[in-house]
Formats: sequence, C-alpha cells, structure tokens
Amino acid sequence: MYMSQLYSPTLRETPADAEIASHQLMLRAGLMRRSAAGMYAFLPLGLRAIRKVEQIIREEMNAIGGQEVLLPIVQPAELWEESGRWGDYGDEMFRLKDRQGRQFCLGPTHEEIITALVRSEVRSYRQMPLRLYQIQNKYRDEIRPRFGLMRGREFIMKDMYSFDRDEEALDASYWAAYHAYARIFARCGVEAHPVEADSGAIGGDVTHEFMVLADSGEDLVLFCPKCEYAANVERAESVRTPVQREEKPELGELAKAATPGARTIEQISEFLQVKPEDCIKTLLYVADGKVIAALVRGDHNINEIKLRKLLGCETLELADDETIFKATGAPVGFAGPVGLKIPLYADYAVEHMVNAVVGANELDHHMLNANLERDFQVEVFADLREAQPGDPCPRCEGRLEGARGIEVGQVFKLGTKYSRAMGATFLDENGKEAPMVMGCYGIGVGRTVAAVIEKNHDDDGIIWPVSIAPYHVIVVPVSMKDEAQAEAGQKLYEELQAAGVEVVLDDRNERPGVKFKDADLIGFPIRVTIGSKSLEQGAMEITIRRTGEKMLVPAADVVSTIENLLKDGETR
Ligand code: ATP
Ligand code: MG
Repeated sequence: MYMSQLYSPTLRETPADAEIASHQLMLRAGLMRRSAAGMYAFLPLGLRAIRKVEQIIREEMNAIGGQEVLLPIVQPAELWEESGRWGDYGDEMFRLKDRQGRQFCLGPTHEEIITALVRSEVRSYRQMPLRLYQIQNKYRDEIRPRFGLMRGREFIMKDMYSFDRDEEALDASYWAAYHAYARIFARCGVEAHPVEADSGAIGGDVTHEFMVLADSGEDLVLFCPKCEYAANVERAESVRTPVQREEKPELGELAKAATPGARTIEQISEFLQVKPEDCIKTLLYVADGKVIAALVRGDHNINEIKLRKLLGCETLELADDETIFKATGAPVGFAGPVGLKIPLYADYAVEHMVNAVVGANELDHHMLNANLERDFQVEVFADLREAQPGDPCPRCEGRLEGARGIEVGQVFKLGTKYSRAMGATFLDENGKEAPMVMGCYGIGVGRTVAAVIEKNHDDDGIIWPVSIAPYHVIVVPVSMKDEAQAEAGQKLYEELQAAGVEVVLDDRNERPGVKFKDADLIGFPIRVTIGSKSLEQGAMEITIRRTGEKMLVPAADVVSTIENLLKDGETR
C-alpha cells in the first residue's frame, strides 16, 4: 500500500470528546470515525486490525471444534417471548417493527436464535457436542456509550454456543472455551486474567470474565496475591467470620439523639463523632412489590446482585421517597431497624456490631446503642455487601487487592435455562428425552483492539503487537525528490511484499518529521528509513517502534532482518 493512497486521515490534535488513550489514538491514527453515539465506521487500518483479531479468534475456535455460522441480526420477538426475555431485556434492546407491524429486535445476543435453530435439527445425543460460533455485529442501546469501541451501541462480537448431553460434557465445552480464550488474548498481545463473575441477565451460574487490567477499565476486580482467587467485585465473596467474644459485651442503653440534617453515614459519623463502622446503613427496597430492608455496616456498600439472589426475586428496586415514608414514618436518610415492621436482611458484618448507631425512623433523629436481638431482629444474615480491597480472601489467609479491569470476554455455563424454556431436547442413549445443556462464550472484538491499545501505546501513538498490526512495516524514504531514495524505497517495498511482509511505502512529498510522526502514531512495528547518507554506504536504518532501537543494516540484508524481527519477540 502506498501512503499517498491510504485512506488514513491522521489528526494532530486530540479529539475533545475522547477521554481515554485507545479512543483518542484510534481517532487520531485514522482507524475509525464516529457516526453516532456508540457507532463507528472502520477505516482501512482499523478494519485490518479488527480482521486480524477475528482471524485469531477463528483459528482458536476452530481448534476446539467450533463451526462458524452467521445468524440474522434481526430477530423476531416471538423467540424472545419463548425464553421470557422480551420483557426482561428493557431499554437496552433496539426494537423495530416490519410493515405488517410484527415486532423484531436487533440482536443484543443470540441465545434465542441459536436455540431455535438447533432444536429443530439436533435430535440425538450422537449429534453432540455441538459448538457453533459467529463473528458479527451486536446491538445494545447502552445508557452511556463511551470510550470509543469499549462501550459501543453497535459492536462486533464473537459468540459461541455449545450444546451438550449433560453437565459433564458441558464442563468439557466450557473449559475448552476458557483455555481457547487464554490463547486468543495472548496471541493478540495482551494479558487477560480470568476472574469469577456474575452471570447477569444471561442466566446460568458458573461464569468467568477475562479482564485486561488497566486504569481506564470500568470493572473492579478483586484478587488474592497469595492464591488463584480473582473475582469481579459484583461477584467477590465476603467471608463470614464467627462472632467470638471473650466477654459478654457491655450493652449501652438505647437512646435517641437529635441529628438535624444528618442523613448520610458521613454526616452522621461526623455529627455524632462516631466511626462509620459503628453505624448501620438501613436500605429499603421493593422486591417483587414487597418492601424489605437490607442492613450493612456504615463503611460497607450493599451488593444488590447478592441481595437479589438471596431474595430470589424478579425485580428489585430501591424504595422511593413515598414508600420509605410509609414504611418508616420518616423521610429518606433516617430509616433504622428498631421498630421497623418489614423483614430485615443483614450482612454478616452486622452480626459483629455492638452499640450501633442507626436511623430512628423519625426526621432528624438517630438511635444510639442499638443492639441485635435486644432491639431488633434480623430475618436472615447473608453475604450482602460489596467485597473491597483489604478484605480477607475467601479461599486462603491472604488479603484481597483491587485493580480496574476491561472485560474483553466472558464464558458462561447456561445449563438448561434456554433449552427448557424453548423446548430444545434430544434423545439420550436410552431413548429418553432430555433438554440440551448449553454454554455461551463471548468476546468483544472491538473492545479487545481498544484494550490492546490501552496497554500498548506511548505519547507518540500506538505500539501494535505484530500479530494484530494493520501493517508490519513502513518504508520511509526521507525525501521522495531524491531519485536514489525513491527508487530504493520502491525496490524494498516490492521485495518485502514478495516475502509476504505487510508493508506501506510512504511515498508522500512530506517533510521527514511529518512522515515519522505519522509512522509512530499509526504504530507500525518496524520502520525502515532510507536517507541519502546511509544509502551511499549501501545501508538502511531499521527502527523498532516498541523499543525505539535503531540499527543500520546493509541494504541486501534488510528483508531477511525484518523477517527475523517479525518472528522474534522484540517487536511484539
Ligand atoms: P458489560 O458488562 O461490559 O456491559 P456484558 O457483560 O454485558 O458487558 P457480554 O454479554 O458478556 O457483555 O458480551 C460479551 C463481550 O462483548 C464482553 O465481554 C465485551 O467484550 C463485549 N461487549 C459487551 N458489551 C459491549 C459494548 N457495549 N461495546 C463493546 N463491546 C461490548
Ligand atoms: Mg459480560
């Protein structure tokens, strides 16, 4: 490719709305352009990187027996009604109607379509395991599309679905995908850590997310430096420690205190001069229409996913002002467990509390010395809080540490959720009908490219790993007006192409500074500079983008040197 023809409009300035490095660089290097919030057009360089990631994914999916299919983006509502998700999916789903008024959606994911496809053809245990995947656009009307490809509303996903005869066979599919994922991200040049995760709207129970650790990540990951334990904060367990007291604690007298205007734990602890960990937060929720309260220690945060699981409810919402007033007799900020006539669910940490500060269920008042059993009863104690860095590891004696992560992929054991709901059954070897046992496995292709850039860039631009670089090499004659340079550039360009190296020749009549800046911004792993001085000595200069290392190489050896460098770790 000639640089003079390459459609890669680079920008010197950082676009104002791009907050993180990968987003800025993908725009500046001319990889893509925004067309609407969360929707992007890929330009040639961006598309080449995307296609390379797709190819790596394809090879690894094929290697575990995956077969590629291509499912429709537009999906009929009826299938989603069968699985029960048409109502559940909410505003994230792009919905549309055809001219007959029939309802459709743009697929945010494809469990329904694939289950409907497979149920009509797969009848026997002999036809499984079946692992089908596709690489295709997904549509999700995200509330906050941002960070470029990280959180788009239209984005490319690889999604694989596995169909197995039983749990044991699903286990094999799951771990095959898990290990394939580790290989995929490593081949793309980025380290992705598998962490235990929550399965969210997809369903199922066992699931791992693959996280690229980066400050710009939207997820918080907790991991133990002593053992293997690593989990998304949504999932991370908090340990229940037994209440052990040498002596019976001295219980203070329950007393009401005026706390004018103090509603938050911070305000209350400041006003009453107590520590946040000596206060109890009382949070009112409406769970499937029923009002309940959840209690957590003042310095802890509730984890609504855990609460929802404990209650086994379909809907869970924080109670509104009116509901709170009705249940407590006070406005928001003064709810407390004493005398409250709704079921109370408390986090394990609350078991340890003595003489706690709680809301008094009265405007501008709190209670001091509130104690379990004596002053209030709890329905159930459970793990209800968000684990945090510094907490004990749930698996060993270590302490958890925190890091931000970008979720580039996720694997799920779905079990029989969709096959039961949608009647995807088969006959086992005894001729008995059973639902297929499913798994699903997603990778965000664009998000992976963005994550690679987050981890591989400097002030000058992108530093592509060779495996997914749009091109491997840029050949830069310092001056195209110098005939010897122009000729040597053209010759090297042709030789590299013949050797199967993906190369761009910067044939523009630009100043060398401009050419070098563009080469660094776009991030070619290798640059060959052809200047008159070195050319007179029969040599060319090779620069490695990642290390900045320069070497003067005899013209005759340039192609073989590059071939070796591309094979070697140096440039990756
Ligand atoms: P998130 O929690 O980030 O919203 P998710 O868990 O809903 O993502 P999955 O349904 O697990 O996403 O989708 C599989 C993969 O698709 C994710 O691991 C991620 O890499 C990618 N992905 C999901 N949503 C988006 C998005 N809005 N833009 C880009 N990639 C996405
Ligand atoms: Mg996910």
